[in-house]
Amino acid sequence: MRGWSRLISFVAIVFLLASAVVPVVTAQAPKAPGFDAAAATEAYLAKQTAEQKARSDAYFVGGYWLQLWGFLYGAGVAMLLLSTRVSARMRDLAMRTTRRATLQSALYWVQYLIVTTVLSFPLTVYQGFLREKYYGLANQDFAGWMGDQAKGLLVAVILGGLALMALYAVFRRASRTWWIWGTAVAMVFLVVSIAIGPVFIQPLFNTYAKLEDPAVKEPILRLARANGIPASDVFVVDESKQSTRVSANVAGFLGTERIALNDNLLKRCTLPEIETVMAHEMGHYVLNHTWKMIPQFGLLILAAFACVRWGYGRAAGRWGGRWGISGIADPAGLPLLVLLFAVFFFIATPVVNTIIRVQEVEADLYGLNAARQPDGEAEVALKLGEYRKLSPGPWEEAIFFDHPSGRSRILMAMRWKAENLPPAK
Ligand SMILES: [Zn+2]
Repeated sequence: MRGWSRLISFVAIVFLLASAVVPVVTAQAPKAPGFDAAAATEAYLAKQTAEQKARSDAYFVGGYWLQLWGFLYGAGVAMLLLSTRVSARMRDLAMRTTRRATLQSALYWVQYLIVTTVLSFPLTVYQGFLREKYYGLANQDFAGWMGDQAKGLLVAVILGGLALMALYAVFRRASRTWWIWGTAVAMVFLVVSIAIGPVFIQPLFNTYAKLEDPAVKEPILRLARANGIPASDVFVVDESKQSTRVSANVAGFLGTERIALNDNLLKRCTLPEIETVMAHEMGHYVLNHTWKMIPQFGLLILAAFACVRWGYGRAAGRWGGRWGISGIADPAGLPLLVLLFAVFFFIATPVVNTIIRVQEVEADLYGLNAARQPDGEAEVALKLGEYRKLSPGPWEEAIFFDHPSGRSRILMAMRWKAENLPPAK
């Protein structure tokens, strides 16, 4: 069994390292006659004023630190629940309330979620509300924001509760292979949430309306038809309710395909900019990015479970008596389980970002070829530069960026433009 788990971890690590190869977005910028892609890139970057740059860089780099503080804060909460035996007491309460093990894990989950939400509330308010307001990225008042938080908590109670019930049922039955079955359960819930998210969860927070303006709708549908996407409508989602960010997506499958853009994109961008964004999103869809990402994350989750198996056994063996927790099937050990997963995924941050960023580069290149709007692409990259550092160093981009930086995106667009200029007469 041990050899098995080592082999799987090894395969997972090799696979992840292979997938972490950064795609070449900074390859040569060719000099077409009369057009220098590198100079054109610098000219676009220079449109961001020093003041805008300072603000955007501060917001984005602050985000690096927030990842660290968020991890440490969460670790502190987990240790608090374990060392004060609050976790053990929540389990005892669940056991006194019902005899059925499945319901006990659900009851434990509800208590755990409420306690951790309350303890994490100061950081959540700072990160999700105060900081967004300070940087001018939020459009919501506190009451509206709290309403969204409450809805999110309700979704977490239900979906998380179902996941926890399935996970602990597996933990109780498979005392040796729980980490493999646990991965299978996690994968099922990953696929389910991807499938139901756009149809059942996102509409809880925002309203989707059909886009009527033919001047925008027709070019988008033309792009969709040309790229083999079965769609007869484009939807606008009222995300300006929450923030000033521009975004769009193409989601769904088996007849539920839906092309949506948010109202910020519609209001703030020109048609070439909208076309290039929509062509990028269509690229994700046509290249089956979601389905390719699922096995990649599956391997990552398997590697995480292999590490958790090792770490849980050690920690519970050493401090289990003091914390009042036993084996993996004991719901009171959930804070330890969550802490070990958090450690793994904190360390794996560059790997996760790179898996996503590689797909984003593919979608950018697809979008350039489909929409043929390199200058629109560059303008959108500048708009995204309002909250994403435009010009990071190469390592900074590899570690912290889950999308290519503005500089990479503009250079890709200008390189495309240089190679697609009409031949000189
Ligand atoms: Zn994308």
